[in-house]
Amino acid sequence: MATDQARSDASEADTYDRFEERVQRISNVGNAAGILGWDQEVMMPDEGTPARAQQLSTLSSISHELLTADETGELLAELEGGETTASSREASGETASGDLESDQAAVVREIRRRYDRETSVPQELVEEISATSSNAHPKWKQAKEEDDFEHFAPTLEKLVDLKREYANHIDPDADPYAVLFADYEPYIDLETAERVLERLRENLVPLIDAVQDSDADLTTDAFAGAFDDDDQEALARDVLDSLGYDWGRGRLDTAPHPFSSGTQFDARVTTRFEEDDLLGSITSTIHEFGHANYTQGLPDDGYGTPLGEARDLSVHESQSRLWENHVGRSRPFWEHFLPIARERFPELEDVTPEEAYEAANQVHDDNLIRVEADELTYHLHIVIRFEIERDLIRGDLEVSEVPEVWNDKYEEYLGVRPETDAEGCLQDIHWSHGDFGYFSTYSLGSVLAAQLYAAAEDDCGDFDDGIRRGEFDELNGWLRENIHRHGKRYVTPDLIERATGEGLTADHFLAYVESKYGELYDLEDY
Ligand code: ZN
Repeated sequence: MATDQARSDASEADTYDRFEERVQRISNVGNAAGILGWDQEVMMPDEGTPARAQQLSTLSSISHELLTADETGELLAELEGGETTASSREASGETASGDLESDQAAVVREIRRRYDRETSVPQELVEEISATSSNAHPKWKQAKEEDDFEHFAPTLEKLVDLKREYANHIDPDADPYAVLFADYEPYIDLETAERVLERLRENLVPLIDAVQDSDADLTTDAFAGAFDDDDQEALARDVLDSLGYDWGRGRLDTAPHPFSSGTQFDARVTTRFEEDDLLGSITSTIHEFGHANYTQGLPDDGYGTPLGEARDLSVHESQSRLWENHVGRSRPFWEHFLPIARERFPELEDVTPEEAYEAANQVHDDNLIRVEADELTYHLHIVIRFEIERDLIRGDLEVSEVPEVWNDKYEEYLGVRPETDAEGCLQDIHWSHGDFGYFSTYSLGSVLAAQLYAAAEDDCGDFDDGIRRGEFDELNGWLRENIHRHGKRYVTPDLIERATGEGLTADHFLAYVESKYGELYDLEDY
């Protein structure tokens, strides 16, 4: 008996090793593609595109072949318990990988999910979606430039149809929008997301109304002027130094649309510099720091498996928003950082921390453009996109109705009506990529940021004094301990529950914005 048991353990270990090696190969192919993608945005000469497109497409098919190969399916089935059927596992209360160590079971769970999704969609459909969105991009761009929705509409219709078909292959019985949402946010269910967004809409619309009616006179020109690019870059490096970015595992470059990418060993940041927007470059650098800092905090020994990968988009965005908003848009941060900024820009000599704080938190209540929105109105831009794309995918809204519905919702939620589709429904690139289900992760990330920040302060005490002194180790230590080091070990609701003691909730975000903006704008009812 003992010998049999030992033999069976040994063979399971061997199976897991073979499985892990395959997972690592898939991950390495993906990470190599990530570096090529970074290079394309940051370094590559303009005419490099034809070769780069082929290189990326080749890597993508190698990764797809490795993942969907029969051998992957066989290894998964063996690790999940061979002949044991799902229902008997359920009856005995075991997880799908009941015999494995819990970390190994988490890796199996994550790869099983990807395997099931990728094997259920025919490759021709994946290629058709990819080709259609490649063609959609120039059409969208021209439509936006010429303010001509009709030019983009037929392609958008086709993308909606294709994505619906895609969802149908994955789960013909499910709400297709829920299936698409799960591509970006696999473990938060759509009902939870809808509930959070609904609460944001119900509470932010009156709060923004009150801000619009306020007589408060915020100082908004603290950062007016022209600021040299090289000095802005030096200041962006100061920001990253100050927050604790690990330069041994990262670098800073510029990109027109800032992003960060990489692995725990090499997590890079990009930012942008515009002569008249110093504040924008500072906040964008802090935002990307939050993403890269999460990546740098993933465990080294998990590299190459889901244990060393970030948990999905909302959690990633919670990290960038936490640093950008809860730290970078706070009073104590400006008390700490303004003297550093003055070293680079003596013209800020007369700006006070309070003025910097007010400038960083001004509500742009007549703004139509999502990427220029403030911390408060931002979420209504997201709610509008969420509602429209959900109804499109469910077949409750026709593509031809989008411009009108878009404008009506802007009027209803934000009190502004776009005069053109270019500054209305054509402003974002996402739908031209076929990305339906993505937008809400921005808002879910902000909501989670507030929840995590509140939980961290519960555990560690108020961070204000530390931030004022430029000390961020305690906050970062809490994030490392509760979020970063876990990678994808826990599904998102469990990760959130373990870190904060409750499920995802908008409570903390609403309390935070109501108190912050109530005070800034002298609002009686807040
Ligand atoms: Zn982000």
